[in-house]
Amino acid sequence: MRFYNDQVEISADAWAEVLVDRTVTEERDLIVLRLVYESVNHEMHASEIAPHLNYKRHAPVNARVARFSKRVVEKTGVRPPAREDGSTRWWHVPFLGYDKRNGTCSWIMRPELVEAYERVFGQSDSELVYPGEMTVQDSTVLSEGAVNKIFVNHYERDKQARTKCIEHYGCRCAVCGFDFEKVYGPIGRDKIHVHHLVPLSTIRKEYEIDPVRDLRPVCPNCHLILHSKREPFTIEEMRGMINSPFPR
Ligand SMILES: [Zn+2]
Ligand SMILES: [Zn+2]
Repeated sequence: MRFYNDQVEISADAWAEVLVDRTVTEERDLIVLRLVYESVNHEMHASEIAPHLNYKRHAPVNARVARFSKRVVEKTGVRPPAREDGSTRWWHVPFLGYDKRNGTCSWIMRPELVEAYERVFGQSDSELVYPGEMTVQDSTVLSEGAVNKIFVNHYERDKQARTKCIEHYGCRCAVCGFDFEKVYGPIGRDKIHVHHLVPLSTIRKEYEIDPVRDLRPVCPNCHLILHSKREPFTIEEMRGMINSPFPR
């Protein structure tokens, strides 16, 4: 399986401008984007989109996305992703993706475009649990083997607070420095967790979260260890515990 993960230099701000410009994003492009956005993992393939636009096959969907991408490239002036033969892989402008066995391609909305889409059109209900955070029931997750009980409280799932925390601290793990996007490329964007420093037992009802004081970005590995005792380890304790850098 080949995964298409090329960088395209379009920020969430630039995508937001694209989304509100009807000379670039036409109504039917918005239908395509909404369908992909609202799908699980923001992922869909052209043949699934086709019936929603009254097309019988996926080819016209591909053509529409290519025309949209061309307008996006004209507006933003970015260099679009290229194939080995130098031609442009147009669908890869708004989407990451991968080839499927039947010759079609599955599209995943670029994380910057997801961010812009939510800014412009609001967040859909199905997305209240953001990518990367554990899906939790009663704020409790049993880890593999049910040995450790991980408490992910609702403050760690508050999307606005999370965004503010990452704006302030950046998206590298506060414990080990792990950087998803650096390691995995564009698909790694926005996958970092946030950890709430204040132990649950000390939180009162009227407590109001301060994303800079109370939250830190952490990678899922460190997050798992942070919650490996009832009172979470502190970030400083965790740093002291790391006894070897990642094997390379
Ligand atoms: Zn880490
Ligand atoms: Zn945590």
